[in-house]
Amino acid sequence: MRLVLLGAPGSGKGTQGVALAEHFGVPHVSSGDLLRMHVADGTELGLEVAEYVSKGELVPDDLVLRVIGETVIAAIEFGGYVLDGFPRTLDQAERGYQLAATAGTAAEAAIFLSVSDEVARRRLGARAEGRSDDADPVVIERRLQLFHEETAPLLTHYEKRGIMVTIDATQPSDAVLVAILLALAPLETP
Ligand code: ADP
Repeated sequence: MRLVLLGAPGSGKGTQGVALAEHFGVPHVSSGDLLRMHVADGTELGLEVAEYVSKGELVPDDLVLRVIGETVIAAIEFGGYVLDGFPRTLDQAERGYQLAATAGTAAEAAIFLSVSDEVARRRLGARAEGRSDDADPVVIERRLQLFHEETAPLLTHYEKRGIMVTIDATQPSDAVLVAILLALAPLETP
């Protein structure tokens, strides 16, 4: 199974990503986790991306592709992927699709976890989890703004590809997972 998760910060991509990866037995690939790992390890790449992540700005596409590329290739060899946080811009989606389509490894479904900004704000405020970008209201607003400006256009991209699924992600996370699995059932081969 090859899935892409889309949604505002706080929409539950991480929670559903882990659960879906476990369900389908494929790796959960989170661009945010990978970026934060580079920052924590103080790698050369980590030093380059730290300021973007802490301010809630998007990391430039070339850097993100460098961070995520090898992990996605390894995941495909493992049988598929649940992509969480990538792609986040139309350019990332188009570049990723070009790379994957020739190899027959493009996503089979894009799941949009739909929540209002109100719900997203409430959840981010409640989680923090040691992530400084979840604790600062200015950074949260910037991430929401970038979601609407840069990531929302991806919904049209996936609609055109005929693989968009929209899920009401304001429900409790168990119910969200059930809704996703029901929506994906037609894709599963017996
Ligand atoms: P959330 O969805 O809650 O904002 P993520 O962990 O997906 O959390 O992302 C955290 C930060 O990492 C983003 O605010 C951004 O700075 C950076 N980031 C993650 N994925 C990407 C991406 N695909 N392109 C650009 N920046 C990214």
